[in-house]
Amino acid sequence: MSEALNPFKIAQKQLDRAAERLGLDPATHELLRWPMREYAFTLPVKMDDGTTRVFHGFRVHYNTARGPAKGGLRWHPDETLDTVRALAAWMTWKTSVVDIPLGGGKGGIVCNPKELSETEKERLARAYMRAIAQALGVTRDVPAPDVYTTPQIMAWMMDEYEMIMGEHHPGVITGKPVPIGGSKGRNDATARGGIYVTREAARAYGIELDGHTMAVQGFGNAGQFAALLGEQLLGLKLVAASDSKGGVYNPKGIDARALVDYKLQNGSLQGFPDTEPISNEDLLELDVTVLFPAALENVITEKNASKIRAQMICELANGPTTPDADDILFDKGVIVLPDFLANAGGVTVSYFEQVQNTYNFYWELKEVHWRLDEKMTRAFRSVYDMGIREKIHLREAAYLVSVARVAEACKLRGWV
Ligand code: GLU
Repeated sequence: MSEALNPFKIAQKQLDRAAERLGLDPATHELLRWPMREYAFTLPVKMDDGTTRVFHGFRVHYNTARGPAKGGLRWHPDETLDTVRALAAWMTWKTSVVDIPLGGGKGGIVCNPKELSETEKERLARAYMRAIAQALGVTRDVPAPDVYTTPQIMAWMMDEYEMIMGEHHPGVITGKPVPIGGSKGRNDATARGGIYVTREAARAYGIELDGHTMAVQGFGNAGQFAALLGEQLLGLKLVAASDSKGGVYNPKGIDARALVDYKLQNGSLQGFPDTEPISNEDLLELDVTVLFPAALENVITEKNASKIRAQMICELANGPTTPDADDILFDKGVIVLPDFLANAGGVTVSYFEQVQNTYNFYWELKEVHWRLDEKMTRAFRSVYDMGIREKIHLREAAYLVSVARVAEACKLRGWV
């Protein structure tokens, strides 16, 4: 029977495995299977042509035992309460695995931002903030960018919040533009964190990266910076990249900078000189050293897992690999750097941004970089050691490390 692809069911299944291995008591297990709080909104927004459109949005506070809820805001046509719940659960494990004092949350609006004008986006962002403002704040919940949301959208939302509250609160949202309280280094932080983890994994497993190959599936913020930093910091050669419209391939190598500039100019990768077209599916099955899935959930499933030829998969997307695929990849010896470890660089620098907002004192880029490196390296080591000790794949190991920390916080608070 084909496996279920509901992301929240997958998140629960992953947790169940960890709970069993950790021997969690039934109450703690049940508590961690569900969001602690959920909001659903109906948002009427005036469009440029004078009509009103009604949007639906969500915000989920998954678990706040280790600190206020934290997590991005996605704008995507396929968003559902269950995708947001899954992403909020993964944020809980993410903030825990890098050991920052935050819980997990996530938000989403069902919409296609590619069909909205800038002014419509601004009105939608402000409407969402008006709906959620009372449940947000540095002591409650702090959103950030995610799929199809940008620093500009964060800026509008911060402004709306401050208008409602009548005072400055830059820490209410992260991923802001640098001139209004954003952190240096937040822009490439998700990819950079993944690159640091890839570097550590290559060291641990004795894999050569310099001069070897990478493929990037998804060419938004995380994918573009993975290509640039993979080349710059690890000496990886980009051979293929794709976005929602398709991909480009050249086994001799593609100049990452030129490809990013091309995408920014043309809005797609298609037609980039000296490349042949490749589908998203075929890109995932290329014989490369590192594969970066950097788009959406469920791209590596029981259907294609046995055909994956990459040595290492660095999951910059949230939820790209299903549990059945995980087992197949582990048996094949493919090293999977699990999403909530591999892409935790974004929320880690979001946390640094909040710290700087609180102190009202801003760091130089090199301070952001070495602190991020330290957090990611330490997180990788604790997951790797757990994996070796328990003879399990790195996702399960990451779950054991992070769920144990959240469970301990719940216990210390007297919740269970
Ligand atoms: N959306 C990013 C993630 O999934 C960043 C979240 C944040 O910075 O709070 O990790």
